[in-house]
Amino acid sequence: MDFSRFLRTVFLVDLLQGLWVTFRNQHPKQIVTEQYPGERPRISERYRGAPRLNINPDNGETLCISCNLCALACPENLIVVTSERNEATKKKELVTFIYDTSRCMFCGLCEDACPVDALELTQDFELASYTRDGQIWDRQMLEEGPKPTQYKF
Ligand code: SF4
Ligand code: SF4
Repeated sequence: MDFSRFLRTVFLVDLLQGLWVTFRNQHPKQIVTEQYPGERPRISERYRGAPRLNINPDNGETLCISCNLCALACPENLIVVTSERNEATKKKELVTFIYDTSRCMFCGLCEDACPVDALELTQDFELASYTRDGQIWDRQMLEEGPKPTQYKF
């Protein structure tokens, strides 16, 4: 070890230089870390997150026509749609809609397959739950959407 290197080591020059870089960037204006959950992050428009089963805002009825195309399009087979025929109108009416978010890879094939834009992957990203059962969403959950706790600091 040459003498200058020895002095740098003894007087911790490299360490102090590193600390100086750190402290030089401590001004609050220079903090770039997102303060989540106090501040909500901006989500890309094309982000595919929590699924939603859309309802008609005019009459509150589901847009889903129970065609089952989303379930057929899903490579994970995680969507289950059940329906029954209305004898008066001869139309199929949605009974249950099950979506297992724990197995979903958010590829978007199901929403692409939907002919009436009833199924949509939204920008909601908070899908965590304390149980596996909590990750299996039924029709009500899909229509109402997740309700994550909003923190205020
Ligand atoms: S996003 Fe992909 S994996 Fe998830 S339910 Fe739709 S088709 Fe299946
Ligand atoms: S593809 Fe659309 S309309 Fe058909 S069952 Fe799925 S959500 Fe309903």
